[in-house]
Amino acid sequence: MIIKPKIRGFICTNAHPVGCAENVHRQVEFVKQQGAVADGPKNVLVVGCSTGYGLASRITAAFGSGAHTVGVCFEKEPSEKRTGTAGWYNTAAFHQEAEKAGLNYHSINGDAFSDEIKQETIDYIKQHMGKIDLVVYSLASPKRKDPESGEVYSSTLKPVGQAYTTKTYHTDKDEVHDISLEPANDDEIANTVKVMGGEDWERWIKQLHDAGVLAEGCQTTAYTYIGKKLTWPIYGHATIGRAKEDLDRAAAALRDQYSDIDLSAYVSSLKALVTQASSAIPVMPLYISLIYRVMKEEGTHEGCIEQIYRLFTEGLYQDNPTLDEAGRLYMNGYETNEKTQAKVEALWDQVTQENFHELADYAGYHQDFLRLFGFGFDNVDYEADVNPKVNW
Ligand code: NAD
Repeated sequence: MIIKPKIRGFICTNAHPVGCAENVHRQVEFVKQQGAVADGPKNVLVVGCSTGYGLASRITAAFGSGAHTVGVCFEKEPSEKRTGTAGWYNTAAFHQEAEKAGLNYHSINGDAFSDEIKQETIDYIKQHMGKIDLVVYSLASPKRKDPESGEVYSSTLKPVGQAYTTKTYHTDKDEVHDISLEPANDDEIANTVKVMGGEDWERWIKQLHDAGVLAEGCQTTAYTYIGKKLTWPIYGHATIGRAKEDLDRAAAALRDQYSDIDLSAYVSSLKALVTQASSAIPVMPLYISLIYRVMKEEGTHEGCIEQIYRLFTEGLYQDNPTLDEAGRLYMNGYETNEKTQAKVEALWDQVTQENFHELADYAGYHQDFLRLFGFGFDNVDYEADVNPKVNW
């Protein structure tokens, strides 16, 4: 099959197996070049391990610290006629890289919100890992089935309190235009917290703890985006921000509840980057393409793997990490400092459909977007006939 990108709205509906393997390979090489994470983790669970920040976390744990990793993801398997999802191919490529390096690994494809998948994970840990010393919670999902009630909750990306009109960038149409978003009602806010808040993270830790598979001094982290003025109306102070506030509550509750094993639970505040999840959030693609330009000019731009490697070396495995005012591991200072934000705000005021390619890092944004799905790599032959049916 010759595989070319099929972009629909903010997503690409297919993926390229060879390109996805290249994406994983580059991240592995980056980590190997950086060197070992001092006193890094040895047995790691990554929930949401197949793309974006979770994939980078798995690669850093494995190749930066030699860790045995068990990953959970929710990806579509390929058939002879249809490609799998990028996360499917990324996971297959991760397995190959880990195999070559002599590392232990296992992946579970299924709904991480369910108790069945939690149990399957625990069974694997008991049989093959003993106890784990790091749990990374990196899920991004539009819905969640409550394992107790069976009810399915959907998240909403809306402002809270008042309607908001702003600019956004349409990835598919390559168009900058205004959007107006009505404020969320109370149910929409509560449902978003139910999907993206801390409840499922707590459920994972409780079940792992009850099963006796968390090591003494185990660490756990969930990821958040805090941002600044430009993104607050649609992120920080919006429905998704409410869910992220709930992660802060959960982190404190986890530390309190599992002091018997001296559990260290942190929310990690990461930078805005092109991922499948962020591409779906109105405003973020435009903001990201502008901040890319500013941060590349300042020499501070990082991708997922650079951020996560730093999170491990300067945050999780550092005695005195930098915390923000809410006690989160603070990794997005290069983005959210006042000087950098003033530059992006100035660009934001000027940007229009006509000058978008000139003011924003359109090329960088677009390349990163394509690469999420295994497209846009110079050293991959996209005219070649490839077998989409990759197994793991
Ligand atoms: P992503 O879309 O790249 O990754 C999501 C992961 O979750 C994938 O591995 C997917 O398979 C998995 N997943 C989704 N639903 C699942 C389910 N039901 N069961 C099992 N696995 C499931 O997203 P991302 O951008 O890497 O986001 C990860 C975390 O990082 C999120 O909490 C997000 O809010 C946070 N974050 C993202 C950014 C950003 O700019 N992208 C910035 C800061 C924080």
